[in-house]
Amino acid sequence: MRLHLRGVVLPGEEVRDLWVHDGLISFEPVRDAETLCDAGWIVPGLVDAHCHVGIRYGGGHEDREGAVAQAETERDAGALLLRDAGSPIDTRFIDDRADLPKIIRAGRHIARPKRYIRELGIELDDERDLPAIVAEQARRGDGWVKIVGDWIDRSAGDLRPLWSDAVLKEAIDAAHREGARVTAHVFGEDALPGLIGAGIDCLEHGTGLTDETIDMMVRHGIALVPTLVNIDTFPEIADSATKFPVYAAHMRDLHRRVRDTVAAAHAAGVPLYAGTDAGGSIRHGRIADEIAALTAAGLTPDEALGAASWHARTWLGRPGIDHAAPADLVVYAADPRTTPAVLATPTFVVLRGRVHTRRTPVTTHR
Ligand SMILES: [Zn+2]
Repeated sequence: MRLHLRGVVLPGEEVRDLWVHDGLISFEPVRDAETLCDAGWIVPGLVDAHCHVGIRYGGGHEDREGAVAQAETERDAGALLLRDAGSPIDTRFIDDRADLPKIIRAGRHIARPKRYIRELGIELDDERDLPAIVAEQARRGDGWVKIVGDWIDRSAGDLRPLWSDAVLKEAIDAAHREGARVTAHVFGEDALPGLIGAGIDCLEHGTGLTDETIDMMVRHGIALVPTLVNIDTFPEIADSATKFPVYAAHMRDLHRRVRDTVAAAHAAGVPLYAGTDAGGSIRHGRIADEIAALTAAGLTPDEALGAASWHARTWLGRPGIDHAAPADLVVYAADPRTTPAVLATPTFVVLRGRVHTRRTPVTTHR
């Protein structure tokens, strides 16, 4: 399929012509190309930087068919690159499906017994096994490893770190030796200094960040994926934790101030990326909601869209709209920065040069 597209290419304000040939973008004209659009806003394929293909909505392991359906839902929402922040099933078969988004995997969640969602992660009885397991998951993933940094400790009745600082340092060093980056699930305050001090590369959720730990993140160049659409479920988590009133109050407090927390991290210069945490308690296909939530937390519309597109792609080592780059892009009928409602209805979704979504073509201005 040979395509020609004309429109405003983001990031930027310039109207440009692009061609697609053999699944790749060309800045040079390609003969016999079908003109897909001659107006519109052309955005590098969206990125959901924290989602779980393979965790069933409502809980449990998804089967292959279900995982494919999740990936299709993401694609149709324009999310063409997914950073899978831990999956209990092997989704490697999706790599052979040209019609499905590209996945960057973090292997399986690494946790301790009774210290994470049951049956999702690898549960270590002895924390001293962490470095070896991290190295193993680093070899199985696509350049990332996911550690559960904190979770409710039922004997303490509140969020507590899962690991000692020394073992975290050894484990993160082990991942780095394998060429992988490390991220951690973390809700509360107490696990943050240990994770940051151990050299972690990214934090997921990060609701317990304070001025002090934000400052540490900036000094260490650590990214944050706040997953705001998931944080909206904290009041429900608190409601169901009647046996743990301290924990419930803690979760409500983290939820109440999350927009200020994210705004403070952003203002301090922490790089933020859009992730929905789809799978389990969040449905797939909600990247537009996360972009809106990031804007509500103080990012400009351009920054929020970049956090779900070009900035996230650079961070993950994937190209945007470049000559000879894979043709993974989304076309909108209006500027998604000034008319964010269009994010829910892309006019065209192009993945590996194939058009997957075609809505009423953009109005022409000839
Ligand atoms: Zn998650």
